[in-house]
Parts: sequence; structure tokens; C-alpha cells
Amino acid sequence: MSRDYDIAVVGGGLAGASLACALADTGLSIALVEAVPFDTPADANMQARTTALAWGTRALFEQLGLWGDMARDAAPIKRLHVSQQGRFGTVRVNAADYDLPALGYVLPNLTMIEALRARLAAMPQVDVVAPARFESLVRDETNGHIEIRCTRETGASETLRTRLLVGADGARSSVRGALGIGARTDDYHQRAIITIVEPERAHGGCAYERFTPDGPIALLPRTRASCAAVWTLPSECAEQLCAASDDDFIAEMQAVFGERLGALALAGPRGSYPLARVLCERAAVERAVLIGNAGHALHPAAAQGFNLAIRDALVLAAMLRERLATDSEFDPGSADLLNGWAEARRPDQHRVANFTDAIVRLFSNRIPGLDHARGAGLFGLSLLPALRDDMARRSMGLAVAPAGPSSNAHEGST
Ligand SMILES: Cc1cc2nc3c(=O)[nH]c(=O)nc-3n(C[C@H](O)[C@H](O)[C@H](O)COP(=O)(O)OP(=O)(O)OC[C@H]3O[C@@H](n4cnc5c(N)ncnc54)[C@H](O)[C@@H]3O)c2cc1C
Repeated sequence: MSRDYDIAVVGGGLAGASLACALADTGLSIALVEAVPFDTPADANMQARTTALAWGTRALFEQLGLWGDMARDAAPIKRLHVSQQGRFGTVRVNAADYDLPALGYVLPNLTMIEALRARLAAMPQVDVVAPARFESLVRDETNGHIEIRCTRETGASETLRTRLLVGADGARSSVRGALGIGARTDDYHQRAIITIVEPERAHGGCAYERFTPDGPIALLPRTRASCAAVWTLPSECAEQLCAASDDDFIAEMQAVFGERLGALALAGPRGSYPLARVLCERAAVERAVLIGNAGHALHPAAAQGFNLAIRDALVLAAMLRERLATDSEFDPGSADLLNGWAEARRPDQHRVANFTDAIVRLFSNRIPGLDHARGAGLFGLSLLPALRDDMARRSMGLAVAPAGPSSNAHEGST
């Protein structure tokens, strides 16, 4: 037996669930296919995961009517402090300089996913098909749809027919493969260790990012007393540190991060994630698009992956809504819409992917001669307000906003 939908979204992670929420008021029938049961208890890794949301992303969650459900757990980033181990050149950015209450917010991933899933559960036009794993697809060009085959946990298979298929199934997207879309993968040979620390001194809403020759370490405000740590290291070092005792681990982190927040105490489990950049060759093909990590998975150094993904999702929903407003029978899989969406999103996707990769390569490797360039890079940013403002705007998700505030460069030893 098969079921018919206007749109099937494969992948109920942050990107897919955000898109399904954004589409729910279009009057279209939507299926959200997710491999993992929605009610699976979060493991220790997931409990420690946080995401830094740009100011612009808060506005998008407000549009979805979801910010109110998330705000209680959101730690505002009032200041950004970027430094380099053992070098001059510090970049400081203050939210007040941009007349904003915060540059962005740090949220537990669990808070976001729970808010999205609670909303989806209350939406009759969205069928959550979970747990069910996408396996394959068949195109039916005569009838204008794609048939997707999924496997339930019991082994039973299920078929859905859809006019538009959205692949939101992560960096190793099966949908991307089944659509025959190629992807370029650049392995950074690094892992990001995530954990929670409690610093001796109050973070005061400051997000710290410190570049070292091995990779960046970020300490982000999480609660009043704790910080989310995201520490990037060559894979081998990361594996050794994950296996080290708590005392050895925190001593090493302290040595790398320095004393700016006083003594650090470990306050959460350690998890680690392999890092690679994955960029799809095309984001739209006939009756299908890729969003989120399925289309572009980025290094977390610039904290841009989800911020970019939600813009993909909400722009697609807005373009579709606009077409439906004048034609209630509008086909959501129309090539015109999908190609228009891919074209509209390309500049933002390229800019963010290139900016993130440039930061990683400039600051996070041991290529001889780059050390001075790294110092010059940060020093340059501190001297050139226009450059620093550009970085701040990208971090806030305001890269398209008009002129920045007056100069406020700081320099100093790290
Ligand atoms: C350590 C770390 C820190 C980060 N920090 C930030 C940050 O501060 N700010 C930021 O903006 N971004 C950050 N990111 C990036 C961000 O986490 C991702 O961009 C975002 O989670 C992508 O979400 P997604 O929904 O596209 O993919 P995923 O989270 O990978 O979700 C994919 C979903 O698809 C499901 N799925 C997979 N295969 C199938 C299948 N065959 N059938 C059905 N379902 C399937 C999976 O179960 C999963 O639920 C960070 C990433 C890392 C690794």
C-alpha cells in the first residue's frame, strides 16, 4: 500500500524538522520520514550538544512561532572574543555596537529538537513517518511524482508517493545518492570534542574562540555558570584526549584555552565528531532538493551549519507560499520553483562555505609559514573595522544588512 503526499521530507533532524514546521501552514500534505524514533531518550552526547544561533536565526524561529518555546534555555552571546595562542591580535565584537541585545544565542540541541517535534506532533497536515529508513526511489514521470521506499523497524517496507522530495538526511545523505547527485568531500582529518565546563570566573555572556595550530577551541556561554566547549583537534589527538582521564583532559584544555576564565572544571560527558566539508554538486534536480547537511556540511569553526540550513528551509517555504497564494493548485515539485530556489540560495551557500573553509585552513593547520599569516590575519581584523564587521555580520546572520557601527578595534597580547 502507498500513500500520496505533496511533499516528503526525509530526515527529521534540525533542518528537516524546521522545514516541515515552516510548510505546515501551506495547506499541502507533508510526510516527515525519520530513521530514529522521535521518543528515543537523548544519549549523553546529545545532552551535551549545543548550537550557536545567529541573531538572524532567532528572527526565523520567531517567524515560526517557536522562539517562545526555546528562549528559556537560550544563553545570549553579548560579546565575541577571538584570540590566537601565543600571538598578538585579538578581535572583540560587542552586540551593543550593533544596537542588538545579543550577537546570537547558544541553545541545547535538545531544546530545539523538542520544540520542533512538539510543534510537528500538533500539526495534522504533517505525518511523521518514524522510525522509518529511506531506502530507494523510483521516478514516475508520467504521473509527475517520485515514489520512495522506506523500511520500518520491523523490516516491513512502506511506499510514499510525493510531488516534491526533500533530502534533509545529513552529510551522508542516502537521498542524495539515490537522486544521483554527486558530492565533493574534503576530510579535515580533525574531530570536534564537545563537552560542558564550569569556569571559575563568570563568562558574562562572552563567547571565546581561540585558534591554536592544532585547531580552534570555543567556550560558549551555556547557562549562567557553565560553558559549552567545542574543541577541534587532529583526529588522533582527539581520540587520545577522549580516552584520557577527566583530570588529564581538563588540564590539557586549560593549557590550551589559558586563564581568561580562571580554572575550568569538567561538568559534562565528552563526545566527538569527525569533521569534513561535504558540498553537493547540485541542490535541485527534477522534483527534488537537498537542504542542510545533505546539501552542505561545514566545519563548526564558524558555527554556521545550522544557521545556513534554516535559511535554506525558510526561503523554500516562503517561495512556495508565494506561488500558492496566486495558484492554490501550484505543483510544489515544479522545476521553475526548485531551480529558482537553488539559484536564490547559491550565493549565501557559497559565501558561508568558503568563509568557513578559509577560517579553518588559515587558523587550524600546521602548514609551515602560515603561523605568521594567522597572526597577521587576526591582527588585520583588529585593525580593519570593515573586515571585522564583515565577520561579525556573518556570525550574526546579517551579512546582507547595511553599513556597520563605528570602529571599535582592540589589540593586545594573548
Ligand atoms: C560539533 C559540532 C558543533 C556544531 N555547532 C554549530 C553551531 O554552533 N552553529 C551552527 O549553526 N551549526 C553548528 N553545527 C552544524 C549543525 O549541527 C548542522 O549543520 C545541523 O545539525 C545539520 O542538521 P541536518 O538536519 O541537516 O542534519 P542531521 O543533524 O545530520 O540530521 C539528519 C537526520 O536525518 C536522519 N536520517 C539519516 N538517514 C536517514 C534515512 N536513510 N532515512 C530517514 N532518516 C534518515 C537522521 O537520523 C537525522 O535525524 C555543528 C556541528 C558539529 C558537528
